[in-house]
Amino acid sequence: MPVAYFVTRGIVLRETVTRESDKILTLLSEDRGKMPVIVRGARRKNSRFAAAAQSLAWSEWTLFRRGDWYHAKEGNTIELFSGLRGRLETLSLGFYFAELAEAAAVEEAPARPLLRLLLNGLYALSALSRPLPLVKAAFELKFLCVAGFAPLADSCAYCGRPDPPDPMLDTVQGVLHCRNCAPGNAGNSVPLCPASLSALRHVVYGDERRLYSFRLAPDALKRFADAAERFLFVQMERRFRTLEFYKSLLPLKETGL
Ligand SMILES: [Zn+2]
Repeated sequence: MPVAYFVTRGIVLRETVTRESDKILTLLSEDRGKMPVIVRGARRKNSRFAAAAQSLAWSEWTLFRRGDWYHAKEGNTIELFSGLRGRLETLSLGFYFAELAEAAAVEEAPARPLLRLLLNGLYALSALSRPLPLVKAAFELKFLCVAGFAPLADSCAYCGRPDPPDPMLDTVQGVLHCRNCAPGNAGNSVPLCPASLSALRHVVYGDERRLYSFRLAPDALKRFADAAERFLFVQMERRFRTLEFYKSLLPLKETGL
């Protein structure tokens, strides 16, 4: 039977080194979601896959399937996001975004919204010069929306006020409320403020092409970032190794410890 080749575009979420000179990639592809791809000779000097087979590369692949595995015939790089590779902080955030995407992606199912979010996030890290806590928090929140955990943030879930005094986000229920409307929720809820609430609404309800186009003063950015990270942690019910590595790079004052 002739080998059935097909072409797809995808981002390398992770690379695993195997025996000898091969790599196994976890690819997030447009039309088949998460795919395990064996790339023969990818670690060899002068391999034609060297660029395309590195983590966070966005490439066009010609693949074929054998059993449970995909194999690479060709890989042509479209974008390497070289701007994020020069700094450990941006590179490790890129790996974190990829680990989040891997957690939400499924095999053999189209993943265009997730892929678009990841591409835009890597582009922001690579080229936009936005504050990293802002990019991280906006990505986390939009990621939750794409993964099916969008918060209800248009008004207080209890009294219906569109602009709650002392707004809080309940990270378990995923709803907004006034501090006084649900005092019993205090353990699950994180405080916001008018500016951080408006940033949250921009991310959840706004145009994704302008996801990172906003500014926040340092205090509001901290509340926004804390809320996004806590909400993600509660909703995903797991820790992320790459996030812990990113945090290990930060000065103590920024980690909230
Ligand atoms: Zn209320």
